[in-house]
Amino acid sequence: MDKYNRRVFIKAAGLGLGAMMMGCSESLINGNGSKNAKQPNILFLYSDDHAYQAISAYGGRLEKVAPTKNIDRIANEGMIFRKCYVTNSICAPCRAVIQTGMYSHLNGVLTNGKEFDNTQQTFPKLLQKSGYQTAIVGKWHLRARPTGFDYDEVLPGQGAYYNPVFIKRGVKVKHEGYNTDITTDLGLNWLTNERDKDKPFMLMLQYKAPHRNWQPGPDHLTLFDDVTIPEPDNLFDDYAGRGTAAHTQDMSIEKTMSQRDNKLIPPGGLTPKQLERWNAAYEPKNEKFRKADLEGKALVRWKYQRYMKDYLRCIRSVDDNIGRVLKYLDEAGLADNTIVMYSADQGFYLGEHGWFDKRFMYEESFRAPLIARWPDHIKPGTSNADLVQNLDFAQTFLDIAGIESPSNMQGSSFKPILLKGKAPGNWRKSLYYHYYEFPAVHSVRRHEGVATNRYKLIHFYDIDEWEFYDLEKDPAEMKSQYDNTKYAGKVKELKAELEKLKKLYKVTPPSPLRKRQPKTGKPKGKK
Ligand code: CA
Repeated sequence: MDKYNRRVFIKAAGLGLGAMMMGCSESLINGNGSKNAKQPNILFLYSDDHAYQAISAYGGRLEKVAPTKNIDRIANEGMIFRKCYVTNSICAPCRAVIQTGMYSHLNGVLTNGKEFDNTQQTFPKLLQKSGYQTAIVGKWHLRARPTGFDYDEVLPGQGAYYNPVFIKRGVKVKHEGYNTDITTDLGLNWLTNERDKDKPFMLMLQYKAPHRNWQPGPDHLTLFDDVTIPEPDNLFDDYAGRGTAAHTQDMSIEKTMSQRDNKLIPPGGLTPKQLERWNAAYEPKNEKFRKADLEGKALVRWKYQRYMKDYLRCIRSVDDNIGRVLKYLDEAGLADNTIVMYSADQGFYLGEHGWFDKRFMYEESFRAPLIARWPDHIKPGTSNADLVQNLDFAQTFLDIAGIESPSNMQGSSFKPILLKGKAPGNWRKSLYYHYYEFPAVHSVRRHEGVATNRYKLIHFYDIDEWEFYDLEKDPAEMKSQYDNTKYAGKVKELKAELEKLKKLYKVTPPSPLRKRQPKTGKPKGKK
C-alpha cells in the first residue's frame, strides 16, 4: 500500500462504513480522468430560475428564437428529463433540498428567510469523506458558510451581475466583469490549478443568472433587438377558472414588474464604460415604442418583450459559458469520466398566466430542467418522462460515486434511469409539494399538493381552497376541475394519496399563519 492508499484507507476505516471504504478504494484508481476509473467526477451545473421553456432541447415557443446550443449538446450526448419537479418552488429552499436530500420541513429551510443549518448531513460531506475533492463556486444563497467543501467561492446572498464580490473561503474578493463569466473562470481555475488531481472531484458550478432583474452580459446587450419574442397563449389570463390564490398574487408582468426590471433605470455599480454601453443598448431609440405612450395590453406586451429579451440574453451567457466548460472537459481529457448534470433551482413563468417569478405548484414553476451526460453510461439522445425530483439529486450523486445513501434521505437515486433509460417498476407514481413563503413578496398563498403523471391536486390550506387539474386535457391549468363531478373519484383518490405522502415524508403541520409586521412603528389609523 503506497502512502496515498494508506492515508485514504486509514481515513475510511475511521468512518467505519463499508460503503465508504469501498468508495475510497475505488477512488484510488480514478486518477485524473482515466476512462477505466470506477468513481467518476461529478460536475453539477445549476442556474437560478432557468425555465425549461427557455431551453431549446425542450422545444416550445422559444426554441427557434433563442436556441441554447451548448445545453442542448448535453441533451444530445445524454438524457433529457421531461418530468423533473421541485418540492417547494423557491430559491433557497430548493438549494437546501439538493444539499440534504430532505424536504424543507426536515432540513429547516422552509422559506428564503431561513438560514441553513450547515452542521447537518449533506451529500458533499459524504462525498468528501469517501475521498472526493469537493468544491462550490457561484450562487449559494443559504446564508451560512458552505460546509463539506474543500473549496468554496460563493456570492454573498443574491450577488451582483456586474463587478461582483465573491466570498473565497470566507474572505471577500471583488471582481470586475460579468458574473456568469467570472463564475466559470473561478470554476475552471479550481479544476485546473487548485484541486488534488489524485482524487475524483465533485464541482457545483452555480450561476446567478438568469435571476431577476435579468441584467444581460456586455456581449449580449443588443441580442434579440430585431426579434419579436413569441407570447404564450395565456399572457392575458384573467384567472376565471381558479380560486383566490391566482387572483391575489403579486407577480404579474402588468402590475408587479417594475421600471428597474424593464431597465428604464440602469443598475448601480457599473463602471463608466459599462454604463455607457448600457445606456446605448437601452436608449428608447432602440425600441419601437416608448413605455410612456402605452397602456393596457400594449403596455403588457411591451414589458413582456423587454423582460423576455433580457432574460434570454442572460441565458445566452449561461449557455456560452457551459460551452466553455464542455470544451474544457474535452481538452483536459476529463469528459469521458465526468458526469455532467444541468439543472436550475426551480422553474419560472415566462409570461404564462401573465406572470414572472415562481412559487406556485402550476407546471411552469413546479417543473425544473434536468439534463445529464455520462459517456458510456447514458445512451446519447435519450428522453425520459418518469417522475423525478430535486429531492433525488443527493442520493443520485452518492449512488454514482458508489456510496450508500443514509436512511434519512427522502428521495431515490435515479442512477438506474440514467443507465437503463427508464425507471424500475417500483418507481414513484406521485409527488408531494409544499410552498410556505406567505405573507411575503409576490403574495403567493401557502399550499401543498400531490401530482401524478396526469393529475394534480392543490390545497391552499390557509383559506381551505382546493384545485384539481387534468393535465392531459388542460396542460396550461386554466380551469380547476375540483367541483366537476366527473372527476370526483379521482379527487378522492388524490386526497388519499396526499395523506399517504405526508405520512411517508413525515410532514409536520405548518405553523399558524404569520401576521405581516407593519413597516413603520406608527399605530394603524394615525397619521
Ligand atoms: Ca431561483
